[in-house]
Amino acid sequence: MWRATVLTLYPEMFPGPLGLSLAGEGLSRGLWSLEARQIRDHGLGRHRSVDDTPAGGGPGMVMRCDVLAAALDAATPPGDQRPRLIMSPRGRPLTQARVRDFAAGDGVVIVCGRFEGVDERVIEARALEEVSVGDYVLSGGEVAAMTLVDACVRLVPGIMGKDASGTEESFEGGLLEYPHYTRPRDWEGRSIPDVLLSGDHKAIAAWRREQAERITAERRPDLMTGRGNPFRDGDWPIHPTEDA
Ligand code: SAH
Repeated sequence: MWRATVLTLYPEMFPGPLGLSLAGEGLSRGLWSLEARQIRDHGLGRHRSVDDTPAGGGPGMVMRCDVLAAALDAATPPGDQRPRLIMSPRGRPLTQARVRDFAAGDGVVIVCGRFEGVDERVIEARALEEVSVGDYVLSGGEVAAMTLVDACVRLVPGIMGKDASGTEESFEGGLLEYPHYTRPRDWEGRSIPDVLLSGDHKAIAAWRREQAERITAERRPDLMTGRGNPFRDGDWPIHPTEDA
């Protein structure tokens, strides 16, 4: 079974949206599992402290490496082969290809940062892979972790009603998706393109392909040329290695 373990200061945020709809039905049916673990259980002292002021000064607080390492070690028994991730705006931007890799494995272990972030040493010592969900800053890693888990879980076998809908959508062919239409046939003076009502499946497939190519070229030329995001298909400069 595909298993997600999430380390967070806010375990009550989970399953949250992952408990509803496709992901939630899969969760209830035991097709995947989700464990949200409280980092503070490994906090220090009477106040179960998890953070401290940044070395070198500056605003905010930093999550302690010793506390996070203890939380991680308790969550991952030896032999746990799942990738260990930390959500971070500095990470490699998440792509559908990476999501497919994660979904094909046993699951993921995810650390959610808060405050200014986490002490760099735990990232190195526990070989955490930093993963970003986009070029903007969230207040914590939880929503980012939900994004990653949601994207993976819909690919877990048995979750999506119709298997085809996993392979014909945005990114799967390296393109953004073609436009969709449904009833009514005419609406506010706009009609459905004739070809989609023609019953000519070859013509429909050709039209969709054309549209997908046009939209991708207009909006995301980088997806077609590979230029614009140097790391999309190439090597990421950081290779986590355990040096603990
Ligand atoms: N000071 C940090 C931002 C901290 S935001 C910086 O400038 O890089 C607090 C936490 O939110 C981070 O530790 C991370 O876990 C999460 N987070 C914020 N933005 C994210 C993003 N785009 N992708 C993934 N995680 C993110």
